[in-house]
Amino acid sequence: MQYKAPVNDIKFILFDVLGADKLHELDKYSEATPDIISAVIEEAGKLATEVLQPVNKVGDEQGCQYDPQTHNVTTPKGFKEAYKQFTEAGWASLDSPTEFGGQGLPHTLKFIVDEMVCSSNLSLGMYSGLTHGAISALYAHGSNELKATYLAKLISGQWTGTMCLTEPQCGTDLGLTRTRATPLSDNSYSIKGTKIWISGGEHDLAENIIHLVLAKLPGAPDTTKGLSLFLVPKYLPGGSERNPAFCGGLEHKMGIKGSATCVMNFDDAKGWLVGEPNDGMRSMFTMMNEARLMVGMQGLGIAEMAFQESLSFARERLQSRSLSGPKNPDEAADPIIVHPDVRRMLMRQKVLNEGMRALALFTGHQLDLSVAHPDATVREGADDMVQLLTPVVKSFLTDEGFNNADQGLQVLGGSGFTTDWPLEQLLRDSRISRIYEGTNGIQAMDLVGRKLGLNRGRLIGHLLTTLNDYVKGNASLPHHDALEVAVKSLEKATQWIAANGMKDPEQAGAAASPFLRLMALTVIAYMWSRMAAAAKEQLNAGEGNTPLLESKLVSAQYYFDKLLTESTWLLADITSGKDSMMALTDEQW
Ligand SMILES: Cc1cc2nc3c(=O)[nH]c(=O)nc-3n(C[C@H](O)[C@H](O)[C@H](O)COP(=O)(O)OP(=O)(O)OC[C@H]3O[C@@H](n4cnc5c(N)ncnc54)[C@H](O)[C@@H]3O)c2cc1C
Repeated sequence: MQYKAPVNDIKFILFDVLGADKLHELDKYSEATPDIISAVIEEAGKLATEVLQPVNKVGDEQGCQYDPQTHNVTTPKGFKEAYKQFTEAGWASLDSPTEFGGQGLPHTLKFIVDEMVCSSNLSLGMYSGLTHGAISALYAHGSNELKATYLAKLISGQWTGTMCLTEPQCGTDLGLTRTRATPLSDNSYSIKGTKIWISGGEHDLAENIIHLVLAKLPGAPDTTKGLSLFLVPKYLPGGSERNPAFCGGLEHKMGIKGSATCVMNFDDAKGWLVGEPNDGMRSMFTMMNEARLMVGMQGLGIAEMAFQESLSFARERLQSRSLSGPKNPDEAADPIIVHPDVRRMLMRQKVLNEGMRALALFTGHQLDLSVAHPDATVREGADDMVQLLTPVVKSFLTDEGFNNADQGLQVLGGSGFTTDWPLEQLLRDSRISRIYEGTNGIQAMDLVGRKLGLNRGRLIGHLLTTLNDYVKGNASLPHHDALEVAVKSLEKATQWIAANGMKDPEQAGAAASPFLRLMALTVIAYMWSRMAAAAKEQLNAGEGNTPLLESKLVSAQYYFDKLLTESTWLLADITSGKDSMMALTDEQW
């Protein structure tokens, strides 16, 4: 079926819940009026349906092809044309800096476009997604000369970027990096080493590929503190001289087959330092934090497409009679959407997707406030929120993106398992998002091990204050008590980790994943409460889109009745500690 961008839901969250209709009041975003934002959302939806989705299946069937003679990679049929349309229409440069040709629009808009791109063609979205991360790292940490040489063409999409961290012996633990950088007399470096699983490492979509490579300088510490970041172009400045940074082969993988995942051999390739020596992790984190939010949107994008497919199927497929009597008496059976168990799967998808969208757009809006608000205290609070929620958005949206794709497939029964329907591709494509950009387990460790203690607990303090103030100030709202219980659970879990995790880091490690999930469910509960309140207000005033607003009230009820209940056992899981998890000896497994 054709993808239909969830334009009305996005507008409701942005304008009626988050107040993003006021973004244009900030000097930096004076052009982002509600009309412009609405036009961007609507046009992005059309692009996703008309340009990106039509080449999604062929991308999966054909995959990318590698030529060992030339080391070139060919992308699937139609990718080149779709990428050209995407970049030439400016979709890759929405929120990029204006001084290098970007449009300088709010980051929230990029979140929205990312969701639509990933619903319609995740593989194709990877090329510009990673390029965007490279742009941010270069903009924040590159020298003026590097910026002048590379940024405009990366922003226009004429060139693409990569992120080269992983090596055969070094995945999560980047301190194990073996790639070396040797200084040359002309201020450049010679880069030698092999990187694996590099997305967009080689392809035929762009004229040049700009690799950002982590490597170690001579004498650098053999830990992450010894890593430096280098810019290594496929073609050297001037345009025609080929740098010895060649693709050595493609990975054969279960999904995102249209995204070229490459072995990259840097054979004394010429590179330039980005940022300070031995400070590569800082530069790389600029890129990774952004990429983590983008990967979260991959989870949501896939989940939305899976939901649309399964809803449409459930309305058509006739099997059995409704438990409350025939609903379709002229046919031999009722559509399966009448069955409570099918409803359970559809409601889970719908309610979680809308909640995850609200969480993501809330984070995007905070990101915009953190860079554009005139009040330094507001900027600081918004930045705290973004830092804290980045691993939550990455992990929860990708875990639930995959789970919702699985629920969607289940709604289709045997049809879902066949390649006649897109659910199996969606499920395969979504799986990687839980692994790359730091596995979801590592995101949870980042949240618990780093973010909770950052600035003496200021980040989590800011979130808990926001939630508690909301609960205290809105005692008459529906779902108030359930939200209050969830916030208290999050508070108790935070205190438990502070009391036990400092003394024994394994306690923090054991609690990390359930804690991240508890935070996600609680912040989404806060979002559902705000969505229900906004919907009720509009319905009472006789305004707005009635079916959407009424569905928000029912969905909020479902969230509090059926999904938030998980928070109770997550707290029990966290506070039961590590003992039964860590006790087995080698012989006992
Ligand atoms: C399709 C694809 C595209 C990719 N694109 C890129 C790219 O563009 N650039 C790039 O550099 N890399 C890329 N990667 C690599 C990806 O980022 C890594 O696979 C990922 O970071 C995990 O590393 P690993 O696979 O070596 O797993 P490992 O690090 O070996 O981890 C294995 C398991 O152990 C867990 N684990 C490891 N250490 C800890 C710890 N300290 N605490 C708790 N749990 C731990 C992990 O969570 C995981 O479950 C890509 C991978 C794939 C498959």
